[in-house]
Amino acid sequence: MMIPFLDLKGLNAQYRDELIEACTRVIDSGWYIQGNECKEFEEEFAQYCGTKYAIGVANGLDALILILRAYKELGVMNDGDEVIVPSNTYIASILAISQNNLVPILVEPDINTYLIDQTKIEEKITSKTKAILPVHLYGQTCEMDAINEIAKKHNLKVIEDSAQSHGAYFQDKRSGNLGDASGFSFYPGKNLGALGDGGAVTTNDEALANTIKALGNYGSHKKYENLYKGVNSRLDEIQAAMLRVKLRYLDKEVEKRREIANYYLQNIKNENIILPTLRAEDNHVWHLFVIRTSKRDELQKYLLDKGVQTLIHYPIPPHKQDAYKEWKNESYPIGEQIHDEILSLPISGVQSLEDTKNIVEKLNEFI
Ligand SMILES: *Cc1c(COP(=O)(O)O)cnc(C)c1O
Repeated sequence: MMIPFLDLKGLNAQYRDELIEACTRVIDSGWYIQGNECKEFEEEFAQYCGTKYAIGVANGLDALILILRAYKELGVMNDGDEVIVPSNTYIASILAISQNNLVPILVEPDINTYLIDQTKIEEKITSKTKAILPVHLYGQTCEMDAINEIAKKHNLKVIEDSAQSHGAYFQDKRSGNLGDASGFSFYPGKNLGALGDGGAVTTNDEALANTIKALGNYGSHKKYENLYKGVNSRLDEIQAAMLRVKLRYLDKEVEKRREIANYYLQNIKNENIILPTLRAEDNHVWHLFVIRTSKRDELQKYLLDKGVQTLIHYPIPPHKQDAYKEWKNESYPIGEQIHDEILSLPISGVQSLEDTKNIVEKLNEFI
């Protein structure tokens, strides 16, 4: 029997009765877009993150796109301005910048944490730089003190990509409340996953929140009146109802992920394998447990032969993608090394200790 990378069906089965009940409530309400479920979820999620506002949107990419678009509408940024982003992120963080006619400026990650290297940000700042977009990759928060300090010094906005870090802390604040605005994804495989697409923006900035709300609803702040040339990006009632159920269990899910991660950290003993590093236990929600080895492809094949499914997040760095041909000749050696050497092990709230032990045994026998 194969140990799956992620058993999504099993994960949602835990909450089957409550999900069906919530679904039925929406069906019977006769109201499917912009109703009470979305409003309640926005309040509950804002409270969870510790922010004044949360705005439901259609997906995580839209959350980031709308934050930048709102800053443009508010006159904070203009076409051609620059946004600093890690070179090893998922492509969506970068797409959000280019879709707004802004210029992504790539900064290398730290080889140990895989997070943007805050010591390399300042050298990339120019008169056109308007924001830093740190990505709490794999579920661990970036060095937000240093990043916010740099932003303050150079008058930049800080936009968190929290698509992988629901609930992660930096000191006493949670992901989503660590900068000026934050984008979340509720893609089914994320730590807080809907049963379809979903996303949210969190912020404490009222003007920004109102602008994003209008932009996602055709640019309309008032029925049939359009302030902006907006888009349609809304969190529908069914997904909001699913998320309200799952938000209540998020911390419990994270706790289970921490147990698995701690087991991996304490028991994987193989000189060919480098384990992930973390600053503090509650800084990391272990969306992914990513190891590093110079024998990555061999290890992945070996594990698959032994019945363990693994994935690579991500095999091709953004600057090597055909979509960004303009970066073809640029070099980001640390990011490239990470992309060549990383492997994501199975981890989830429904993974049994037996499976985890099994995976560790196989890893320790790998030569
Ligand atoms: C998943 C993800 C996104 C995009 O979210 P979607 O809901 O799939 O659009 C953005 N950034 C990161 C880091 C992600 O992992």
